[in-house]
Amino acid sequence: MTIERGKLIIISGFSGVGKGTVIARLMEEHKGFAFSVSGTTRYQRPGEIDGVHYFFLSREEFEQGIREGKFLEHAEYNGNYYGTFADYVDQRRDEGIHIILDIEVQGAMQVMRRCPDALSMFLIPPDAATLVHRLTGRGTETREQIRGRLEQAVRESAEAEKYRAILVNDQIQNTVNEIYGMVQDPSGMEAYRRENLPRVAVIRDDLEKILNLGEY
Ligand code: 5GP
Repeated sequence: MTIERGKLIIISGFSGVGKGTVIARLMEEHKGFAFSVSGTTRYQRPGEIDGVHYFFLSREEFEQGIREGKFLEHAEYNGNYYGTFADYVDQRRDEGIHIILDIEVQGAMQVMRRCPDALSMFLIPPDAATLVHRLTGRGTETREQIRGRLEQAVRESAEAEKYRAILVNDQIQNTVNEIYGMVQDPSGMEAYRRENLPRVAVIRDDLEKILNLGEY
């Protein structure tokens, strides 16, 4: 019996858009999905578990992994390395499991080049104010860090159009249903990009205005 290979799902989006929550809900509700736990050199935040949220590595360990070709993709983000383990992704896909990558845009572009069949999705908030609200609501970041994330969002907004689908994460359940639907039948993904691309431009402009006001 041959097993149909699992799909490779890339989920990117601005910091604070709710990627983690959406992915957790998708996996709770549907069998047959696995999350790709990345390697990173960033510090371990309180509550994070090594091997569950990330594999926390030293720079030396990470660089050795790069040399040995362990990563399907890797990128440097905010001064830290992040990378996806190639073997894990391949093994799960061979077992027929759909694998989800929560990765930033540089890494996503590498995966799209190497795996043209990847289902790439970019999550955006309904509007700029919601993003600011979600970032400030976490209560874990300084104003400077929030500014950094908003600036990052402005830069990343230029890449959204390279993804097959752009999804507005307004109601979590809707977003989960949309992602699940795309995995079952990816043929409608481009329509989501066309429909939501204008909204990315509005959010980018609004974020720039907020940044120019200097509150963050
Ligand atoms: P955080 O440090 O907040 O957990 O993640 C920062 C960024 O790194 C997020 O945009 C997240 O999607 C991204 N990221 C996490 N793991 C990987 C990875 O393996 N590769 C790449 N390229 N980005 C990752």
